[in-house]
Parts: sequence; C-alpha cells; structure tokens
Amino acid sequence: MTVERATIQPYVDGVPGRFFYQRYDHPSAAAAEEELGALEGGRALVFASGSAATTAVALGLLAPGVAVAVAEGCYFGTTSLLRRFEPWGVEVVEFDQTGEPPAGADLVWLEAPSNPFLSFPDLAAAAAHPGIVVVDATASSPVLLRPLEHGADVVLHSATKYLGGHSDLLAGVLATRDEERYTRLKEVRGATGSIAAPDVAALLLRSLKTLELRVRRQSETALELARRLAAHPAVTTVRYPGLGDPRAARWLDGGFGGLLSFDVADAEAALRVERRVRTILNATSLGGVETTIEARRRWEGERVPEGLLRLSVGIEDVELLWADLEQALG
Ligand SMILES: *Cc1c(COP(=O)(O)O)cnc(C)c1O
Repeated sequence: MTVERATIQPYVDGVPGRFFYQRYDHPSAAAAEEELGALEGGRALVFASGSAATTAVALGLLAPGVAVAVAEGCYFGTTSLLRRFEPWGVEVVEFDQTGEPPAGADLVWLEAPSNPFLSFPDLAAAAAHPGIVVVDATASSPVLLRPLEHGADVVLHSATKYLGGHSDLLAGVLATRDEERYTRLKEVRGATGSIAAPDVAALLLRSLKTLELRVRRQSETALELARRLAAHPAVTTVRYPGLGDPRAARWLDGGFGGLLSFDVADAEAALRVERRVRTILNATSLGGVETTIEARRRWEGERVPEGLLRLSVGIEDVELLWADLEQALG
C-alpha cells in the first residue's frame, strides 16, 4: 500500500492535472472513492470525519430560509451540528422518521437505523417527499443498505465506524448520483479543507476489503445477543432492527447490523454493567471489530433513558460476549 503524501504535484506543460494540491483531491482519496462509489451506486467523496461530511451537506445544500426535518433520536451530534446553522436562518425541526416527513421541509435528514434508538426510516415516504433526502447509513453500512437505490439524494457515513471498522481512523463519506450536487459538495470540501488525509484514505481502502465479512459476522452475533438480552430478567427493553416488528421480520434472517441498545433499571445499574465488563470494552463509538458498550446518558442527557446501554458488537465469539454480558448483568 503506497501512500502519496506530497501536498503538491507539478503541473505538466504549465497545466495542473487532477491532483495538484492535496486539499482538493489526492490519489489515496480517489482510490477510496472509487471503491465507495461502487459500493453505494453513486459518486463518493471522503471527508476528515462524519461530522465534516455533515458540515459539507449543510454548507453546500442549505441556505437562509430553508427548513430541515431531522429524524428524532438520530445521532445527537448531527442534530446539534445542524442547529448551529439556526442563527444563519436555517430552521431545524425533529420528526418521527418511521412516518412521513413534515410537508414544508426542504431537506429531510434520516438515519438508518438511528443511533442509539435503532428506529428505521420510512424510505419510501421520504422518496415521495419533494425535499432533498439525506440518509445517514452509518449503522447499516452499504452491505445492508444502499439508500441511493431507495430514492435518497445523498448518503452519508461516519467511516470512523463500520467502513473503517478497526477504531483506528476518523473519516466520513458522502455519495450521490446527482452530478451537480457532487460538484457542489466537492467544492465545499475543497474550500473548507475537510478532505480525509492520504494515510486515512489508504487505511479506509484497506478496511473495505473485509467490510462484508465483518458486517455479516457482527450482524449474526448482534441478533443472537439481542434475543438473549430480551429474555434476561435484568433487561427491560432491547432495541434492534426487526426485533418484535413483524413488518421487518426479513431482517431477522442473519441480523441487521452490529448496533443495538438495551435498558437496565436505572443509571446505577447501567454504571455497574460498564464497570463489570471484561472482554467488552467500556468505550464510546461503534462499528469496530472489538465490542464496546456505554451508557449514553452521560453524553446525550435526558433524551435517552438513564439505564440505556449502547452495545456495538464486534467480531469476537458470541459465547464469549454473552458470558461477559451475563456476568456483568448478574
Ligand atoms: C459517529 C457518527 C457520526 C459522526 O461521525 P464522526 O466520524 O464521529 O464525525 C454521524 N452519524 C452517526 C450515525 C454516527 O454514529
């Protein structure tokens, strides 16, 4: 894996080539984008983080007077980042993404499934809506969902999670089929200097080789753990796509992603689980090969139940993980 780190490339006969200054484009980003574009069925752009990708959507596709409808219970950083544009005249409203988006929305922001509530958007209702539809598919990964095929205009990933998969890179991705939007978003990325660095883009490309294997394994294990947790006396609620939802029963064939959340009695019980886990890391983030767990109340405040634990299932043996959860809950 050779990484071209030079920030400049000489012009040829006085003419700049595709790669002339790293902030606009560089070979490692281009290689990763080729692969990501094929996975999503569109043209991809890599960013320094998922949040940088969100910022590019906001700067590129919003304007004063525009109304954004954002999925209730989606990644809390997304809602708070979009709300930073309110003083510039952007209106932000939250809505239940399992139903129709609000009529007046110019841009509809969905999360499939939402983190940490695991609600699933009604993609058909959003596609029928006149607004621009952005789907954050971080928790699905393109292995399980390709939103552009369901009528989304832009798909977003925090590549820090499943796409990177090893908790060793911070990156974001946008993909679209619309040439004009692609150009606009790429211009914003260049103007704000939010492209992923060459080493990061190369690591991301490496990770994509095992994406499908990882996500399939994580999904199978997560489904099994979700079922066992649902039967555990110390657990009051389990959230996992398709679990207890007959319309989504097809997802229960092999599972749908490695992310789930569950509730224990209260904050104290959640803290006890965090302190007792041994194999499972008590850490934030998700999508890595190592399983992590954390109570989300510390970051998200009252919007999440105090006993809510978010579990991101890795690739370890299911029995090893269950033994750890059982002793931690015991
Ligand atoms: C983590 C996350 C983000 C933000 O991504 P960063 O890479 O941390 O900036 C956005 N959306 C979802 C669903 C996430 O889980």
